[in-house]
Amino acid sequence: MAPAPRYLIHLPATSADLAGAVDLAYALARSLGFLPEIDAGETTVCAEDAPHVRHRVCCDLLVPGGQRCGLRTDHDGDCAAEPADGQLSGSGGSGPTIRS
Ligand SMILES: [Zn+2]
Repeated sequence: MAPAPRYLIHLPATSADLAGAVDLAYALARSLGFLPEIDAGETTVCAEDAPHVRHRVCCDLLVPGGQRCGLRTDHDGDCAAEPADGQLSGSGGSGPTIRS
């Protein structure tokens, strides 16, 4: 039996640079990840004039327990299903500031 057709939603959000776009995409994916329709691990970013060159945002490797790694693609240390507190933004500059 053929799989049911799927439709992808393209919801443009823009940034002036790649690091900012990756930060924003990761924040959006994490904040909407509770919806079963959202596949946060497959989130990608591309330049507007090069839509075929996609940059992955999430690591998405399998972790023990069958879940996917929820950290950024370039994270340090071991994979984890959930980022530790304060790890949501990258070092790219335009993310939210976390104060202690
Ligand atoms: Zn990982």
